[in-house]
Amino acid sequence: MHAKPKLAVWKFASCDGCQLSLLDCEDELLAVAAEIEIANFPEASRAVVRGPYDLSLVEGSITTPHDAERIHQVRRASKRLVTIGACATAGGIQALRNFKDAREFISIVYATPDYIHTLNKSTPISDHVFVDFELQGCPINKTQLIEVISAFLNNRKPNTPPHSVCIECKRRNNVCVMVARGTPCLGPVTHAGCDALCPSYHRGCYGCFGPMESPNTRALSTQFAKMGVQDMELVRLFRGINAYAEPFRKESEAHEK
Ligand code: SF4
Ligand code: SF4
Repeated sequence: MHAKPKLAVWKFASCDGCQLSLLDCEDELLAVAAEIEIANFPEASRAVVRGPYDLSLVEGSITTPHDAERIHQVRRASKRLVTIGACATAGGIQALRNFKDAREFISIVYATPDYIHTLNKSTPISDHVFVDFELQGCPINKTQLIEVISAFLNNRKPNTPPHSVCIECKRRNNVCVMVARGTPCLGPVTHAGCDALCPSYHRGCYGCFGPMESPNTRALSTQFAKMGVQDMELVRLFRGINAYAEPFRKESEAHEK
């Protein structure tokens, strides 16, 4: 009898939301579970099967010297490594500290700063080790997650959409919040995956699925400026959950005085 492929799930600095998305796949995972062995998933079970693992899903960003070492151990133990969520693919909301000196925050927040061992920056996993595939989202979309797991277990390329949230708006017949209401929306440069959730409720997208493939952030900023958005607000718009994803980071820095 064939040994089942081993799946491991690892956590770094994060809120656990993407792991919860995985737990939320219980119905779909039942079908997948017949084909794989969930070998290491502390959020779901204390049972740990030794590596190496055929597929590792990594949640969270690297924020401490210890984690900067641990991710190399994870990589060595994994045949394929996929990062899941905004923290793992872009540094997450905690990367907002990358634009300041983190030591200043530590001295303000903690009574005994000497106990805090942290890096000055929160960085994506791909800044430290080779990553086979990055699945964006905060949290990730569970259909896309199942597709990625199934693709890697069957040695094929994952089929996740490269297009923007605007395409999802068109599919839902949403009236564009930028055109109809003059509301700034990051939808034109944001990766699809949420089924245009915010514009469907007449709100602008704030980019929680991160940059789409080849986003034209400069053109969007020019449009925002025509709508009366000031530089400070432009910085704030691009500096959210995916602030350290390169296209969003560069655009926010271009408008910072
Ligand atoms: S509302 Fe936003 S995401 Fe939807 S079509 Fe308009 S710009 Fe694109
Ligand atoms: S912020 Fe943008 S990507 Fe996130 S749920 Fe809203 S529309 Fe979707």
